[in-house]
Amino acid sequence: MLNVAEICPATRALGPGVRAVVWVQGCPFRCRGCLAPNWIPDRPARQMTPDELAATLLGDPRVTGLTFSGGEPMAQAAGLAATVRAVRAVKDVTLICFTGFRLEELTGRPIAEELLAEVDVLIDGRYVAARDNDRGMRGSDNQRVHHLTERLRGHDFTGGPRRAEIHVKDRDVLLVGVPPSSLTAAWHTIGGGRT
Ligand code: SF4
Repeated sequence: MLNVAEICPATRALGPGVRAVVWVQGCPFRCRGCLAPNWIPDRPARQMTPDELAATLLGDPRVTGLTFSGGEPMAQAAGLAATVRAVRAVKDVTLICFTGFRLEELTGRPIAEELLAEVDVLIDGRYVAARDNDRGMRGSDNQRVHHLTERLRGHDFTGGPRRAEIHVKDRDVLLVGVPPSSLTAAWHTIGGGRT
């Protein structure tokens, strides 16, 4: 069973093309300045089976890729790996995964490697506010972009302007993407807590 903090069925703010995004609940790291502090506690959120999550991620026909973030995806690696396999049984999507672990901390760990086997691009490492350069899809420039396959090799993950979208759902708002610092500051000023 997966413990899911939030789902965005379609966005252009977290990687190339239209992507469905999953943020998992719970992270063992407590990076100062984390954009998603509500998703750090390891508490029950939305409980979903991999098949249920896969069906949700397949809901928008424009989607060509998935992005996993959090929270810490590697803390739920087995369930997320099963989710990707279920999605790919229907549609050949690419997968970008953020993690606070460094790749070297994950290799040799069978459950983490189960998810790594499905990942096309891994963005690794803790967020360091002092290294936030306001560029690309990394939260801070100590984080590394690993192309574990060739499928998204042509996309620039480290440069270019940041992208973010504000999604309105029911009576809630969701900030999707790696926002520029000016937007992050404004978001916190108005009391937004979700990214
Ligand atoms: S690893 Fe990511 S989600 Fe976890 S505390 Fe750091 S910035 Fe937040």
